[in-house]
Amino acid sequence: MYERATRVIPAGVTRPLRYFEPYPFYAKKAYGSSLVDFEDNVYADFWMGHGALILGHMHPVIVDAVKEQLQLGFHFGVCNEWEVKLAEQVTRLVPSVKMITFNNSGTEANLHAIKLARAYTKRDKIGKLAGHFHGVLEPLFVGGGWPTEEPESAGHDPLSAKNTIVLPTGDPDAIYQTIKKEQMACVILELVVGGASVPADKEFVKGLREVCNDAQTLLIFDEVITGFRLSPGGAQEAYGVTSDLTTFGKAIGGGEFPVGAVGGREDVMELMNSVKHPKKSEQVVRGGTYVGNPLIMRAGYEATKLYEKGDVYKQINRLGSKLIKGLEDAVQDTRANACVTGYGSIAKVHLLKNKIQKKDLKSLVTNADQQAEKNYFRHLLTRGILAMTPSEVHFYVSLPHGEEEIEKTLTATEDFLRSARK
Ligand code: PMP
Repeated sequence: MYERATRVIPAGVTRPLRYFEPYPFYAKKAYGSSLVDFEDNVYADFWMGHGALILGHMHPVIVDAVKEQLQLGFHFGVCNEWEVKLAEQVTRLVPSVKMITFNNSGTEANLHAIKLARAYTKRDKIGKLAGHFHGVLEPLFVGGGWPTEEPESAGHDPLSAKNTIVLPTGDPDAIYQTIKKEQMACVILELVVGGASVPADKEFVKGLREVCNDAQTLLIFDEVITGFRLSPGGAQEAYGVTSDLTTFGKAIGGGEFPVGAVGGREDVMELMNSVKHPKKSEQVVRGGTYVGNPLIMRAGYEATKLYEKGDVYKQINRLGSKLIKGLEDAVQDTRANACVTGYGSIAKVHLLKNKIQKKDLKSLVTNADQQAEKNYFRHLLTRGILAMTPSEVHFYVSLPHGEEEIEKTLTATEDFLRSARK
């Protein structure tokens, strides 16, 4: 399958992070916390659809809702009740979101969020934090790592990021000063940086809120990963800080489908009101053939009702903290040059080249031992464990995961760390 793929798809994969040596496996089916490949190997899946599947694969409530919708039609092109119901649901769960609109991906949601901010503030510059990821949208696909000047992709319009200011993650004072000085339309950030699984400092985020208020710069939380993963109200509920705009993806559509959404303050979102602002120069214009698709909206509605009940978080956060604690013990017991970060149901062991003083994003990323990460990924795979990304191994715990899968991951990690020290 891989050989066939390489002839027709670049590198044989639809995105680079799905590639690993000697070749990726191909999934045949998935259920609960398991993924099955073409050779019928079963993996405990912590990749979990790029973190989207909080409820696991094929949750019966989602499957039933989707089956029912399939009988009724699944691409209408016109309005449907499920987009309204999902919007009502999200605005109830996430207090800063008074209005919301849906699209097909997190990347697209961020595109709209920036446009809203620019239209609202009538400013051009935007701020993003170094090392934070917001999809492959040109103005935001810069400064994803260190050095921040390094291009993230070939083929970018050299002018596409001329209004983007990459803010120095880990240096709150410098960030606050730049916001005060630069008259930016918005600052966008992740509250828990996905791949590296590093939570932003709470005091820093509170300070950012105040500085953005003073500078009349909109604060955008990219909750594409954290939305509904950390709590029904997203990371912002867990942090106790509200944004002006929030972007969602993944879990907002139940996790099984392509989706994105941007929501926030009514006065900002109203710039998308095509009835109120018929002139295109005054309206943030939306598009998309499949936006608000009834299948996805219905799955999202059912999923958010389950998130709302709260027992999901009791379970995934309990197992998440067990995993984080167990990984920390494994690092300590083996005295490996590694450390652990995480939040709630997101966990990561960082395998390091050098000793670091502080577990901050920049130190962790710039000292990552990429070869060791690849070896760790493969080690886990041979033990029947699929962690997320072959070059930045981390884990998403979801509802169907059990104690046994956590134990198995901890044992495999401890064995790896022990053998890597030899
Ligand atoms: N923002 C964050 C924080 C993400 O992690 C991602 C993707 N993992 C995106 C945006 C882009 O979302 P999508 O892949 O749905 O375009």
